[in-house]
Amino acid sequence: MASSRTVVVAGAGIGGLTAALALAKHNFRVVLLEAAERLEETGAGIQLSPNASRILIALGLRERLEPHIVVPEELRVMSASGRMLARAPLGADPEARYGAPYWVIHRCDLQAALVEAVAATPDIALHLGTRVEDFACDRNGLTVAAHRGGLSIDDHGIALIGADGLWSTLRRRLGHRAVPRFAGHAAWRALVPAEAVPLELSAPAINLWLGSRAHLVSYPVRAARMVNAVAILRDTAPAPGWSAPADGHELLARFPPAKWQASVRALLGAAEHWQKWALHDCAPLRRWGKGPVTLLGDAAHPMLPYLAQGAAMAIEDAAVLGDCLAFTPDDPESALRAYEKSRRGRTTQVQRAARRNGIVYHLGGAAAWLRALALLAMPGPRLIRRYDWVYGWKPADARSTLTR
Ligand SMILES: Cc1cc2nc3c(=O)[nH]c(=O)nc-3n(C[C@H](O)[C@H](O)[C@H](O)COP(=O)(O)OP(=O)(O)OC[C@H]3O[C@@H](n4cnc5c(N)ncnc54)[C@H](O)[C@@H]3O)c2cc1C
Repeated sequence: MASSRTVVVAGAGIGGLTAALALAKHNFRVVLLEAAERLEETGAGIQLSPNASRILIALGLRERLEPHIVVPEELRVMSASGRMLARAPLGADPEARYGAPYWVIHRCDLQAALVEAVAATPDIALHLGTRVEDFACDRNGLTVAAHRGGLSIDDHGIALIGADGLWSTLRRRLGHRAVPRFAGHAAWRALVPAEAVPLELSAPAINLWLGSRAHLVSYPVRAARMVNAVAILRDTAPAPGWSAPADGHELLARFPPAKWQASVRALLGAAEHWQKWALHDCAPLRRWGKGPVTLLGDAAHPMLPYLAQGAAMAIEDAAVLGDCLAFTPDDPESALRAYEKSRRGRTTQVQRAARRNGIVYHLGGAAAWLRALALLAMPGPRLIRRYDWVYGWKPADARSTLTR
């Protein structure tokens, strides 16, 4: 018999963990099932723009996150040769404008802080090594079928949230045929000790170099002890997963000294271990869920990283999901449809904006020259403010659309 307040969440990534905390805050019991035996110490830096940081702060995570975050003072956009094209102030500005800070953090520090908060919440049971396979609806909600240690197990709840990422099993089980589409690019990532990089690259700033058909992002993470570097390049052979081994010499050869600033090459050359992952997104789904089942985060709306909003959108989803279920706890199906209605338009808009940025970032020839002119003419603050619609979003915006 399902407990009338148990929600099953599949996937303990950034979205699933945040959803568990948001649901527990509204007095739901959460069974959180994660396929991985242990949560990997891997990943790149993640940008927590104000629309995401405000939610994490509201969930009481500020103290847990603060030892790991870096507050970037500015965003610097440069040409491959290092010419400064635009500088936008960050630091205290986002907090003044949007009411929440702009942070950068390493993915595993964020995940570890969320896991610690989950462990400190008695209403959440996290089970690692448990792969969700299927579900069946019944009069009391649903039964979720999973595999753990070679055994089949069942869990019961009033709702099932598929937060199982890019290659979501539950998306397929819900009948969606769309397969994530490869964007033709791979992202190469490495962490470099701050003392090993040129001084200007260990400063608290987000650096973006735009080259022809390639770009590079760097910023400090792990309380500024390390610098995160992510290079995005054309690729033809996507390796599965998030952490395929990659060859630093091959990468350096694709950033020739004739085109790329010396400090960029110094940063790339200082990294010992490179890993890469193939970039995918999905055309926006017309519906996400059915009955007492829905999707969240990458499972619902995989997106390209060119607006740095993948994790932020999963965090926003989690907050809205908690609010919707709390609003009509006795009618989870209506709550899930209200959640989807409130999220689909926004996540589609962000998916499309990220895809457009990818095109602009990789322009070559005359188009790249025009891009540089446009950036040189743009006042620095405008670079951030044109995304007011992304960063200024608050869960209250979605709450106001809920009606009894
Ligand atoms: C190991 C890892 C490393 C990553 N590194 C990067 C990175 O370097 N840069 C970047 O931009 N993004 C990275 N991502 C993706 C990024 O975290 C997400 O795009 C974003 O945070 C949205 O989060 P999400 O919770 O929707 O998905 P994810 O963070 O991908 O979480 C999905 C979770 O679901 C679990 N899962 C999958 N199938 C099942 C199942 N059937 N049953 C139960 N659990 C299941 C996965 O193990 C994973 O923990 C990484 C994801 C993972 C899992």
